[in-house]
Amino acid sequence: MSHIFPRHTKSDLPTAARGEGVYLYDTDRKQYFDGSGGAAVSCLGHGDADVTAAIKSQLETLAFAHTSFFTSASAEALADKLIANAPEGLDRVYLVSGGSEAMEAALKLARQYCIEIGQPERHRIIARRQSYHGNTLGALATGGNMWRREPFAPMMIETTHIAPCYAYRGQATGETAFDYGQRVANELEQEILRLGPETVMAFVAEPVVGATAGAVPPVDGYFKRIREICDQYGVLLILDEVMCGMGRTGTFFACEQDGVAPDITAIAKGLGAGYQPIGAMLCSAEIYRAIEDGSGFFQHGHTYIGHPVAAAAALAVITKLTDGGLAKRAQVMGAKLQSALEDAFGQHPHIGDIRGRGLFRGLEIVEDRETKRPFAADRSIHKVLKRETFAAGLICYPMGGTIDGRNGDHILLAPPFILTDAH
Ligand code: PLP
Repeated sequence: MSHIFPRHTKSDLPTAARGEGVYLYDTDRKQYFDGSGGAAVSCLGHGDADVTAAIKSQLETLAFAHTSFFTSASAEALADKLIANAPEGLDRVYLVSGGSEAMEAALKLARQYCIEIGQPERHRIIARRQSYHGNTLGALATGGNMWRREPFAPMMIETTHIAPCYAYRGQATGETAFDYGQRVANELEQEILRLGPETVMAFVAEPVVGATAGAVPPVDGYFKRIREICDQYGVLLILDEVMCGMGRTGTFFACEQDGVAPDITAIAKGLGAGYQPIGAMLCSAEIYRAIEDGSGFFQHGHTYIGHPVAAAAALAVITKLTDGGLAKRAQVMGAKLQSALEDAFGQHPHIGDIRGRGLFRGLEIVEDRETKRPFAADRSIHKVLKRETFAAGLICYPMGGTIDGRNGDHILLAPPFILTDAH
């Protein structure tokens, strides 16, 4: 009898034994094609020798030194490399152990910044429906996945949700994509005015929506308008690139393609590429300076922040993504994946939309292509898809979500960037 507390207590999972390239193998030697990189984690695939060597070398010299006593060479080098490749204005890196932690750090830093600059009444967060920002209480409250939030609702911090930028569902007949983007972005302004601009701390969004909607990119101009509104009302823009960052969409940060820079951003998943648990929160020089010139202390922290081995692994990963050109490869292979998916499923009666950026692609499953009507929730289409694809040796990421109150199903694909034409 197992003593592991699994995610799903009623399922009987195979034991993973080995990973190599784009494949995982279980203890019965069954091969699985990792078509979703786990959950958009394994950007380099499995068994990367360079990352393994970097981890070994770091372990042999220094495994751990508490960050209240020391900094470390690997954490410093990783921060330098991240900032050298980050959107303009981002200047400081706070290293944590995963995506939810990065989002918690982002929310708490935003709040502390408001206090330090003498605006303590700013505490409200505006986020979007069809979003996921993590499973810890602050990140969960920020996310718009109602099913995940529901049991913990009485414990939630105050967040309100506006419409996502989801053209397949939201763009009206006769409306251009650009006008649609401006219309939904303007919901942010209306919400800020409704809440009282002096009380709003931050707007939080994923540049390309991952798990709750299936790789939904924004339309042109949407984030530029969001940035304008945030600047007008002194609201911080927090972009959650935990899933879509680190080259996944074909640029190192997804927001580069929208021509905007956030005040704070969160990354994880592809940063450690599965080799180490690591995430990071990046903030602007202005925010950092407010803390530095004010209290001098970010009232946050976990034992494992800035872990030297995790940092060494992440440095090796992102060196391959940037200098090694793998993020660009995600762009090239992503375009090929999109056209292959369109060839295979473009006319499928139950595929309503095929979309995404880079190697971050989503297929929306519908009962009726014409009306875009989703399958009823009790059909649990995403569960059937997960079971059948896994049995056939494909790891992909089917999810059910709510589309403005209704059920919807999609499949997320996020394969390793080492994918070849043959794959
Ligand atoms: N933010 C986004 C956009 C995510 O997709 C996820 C995880 O799926 C998280 C945050 C939380 O990250 P983690 O599971 O590493 O805590």
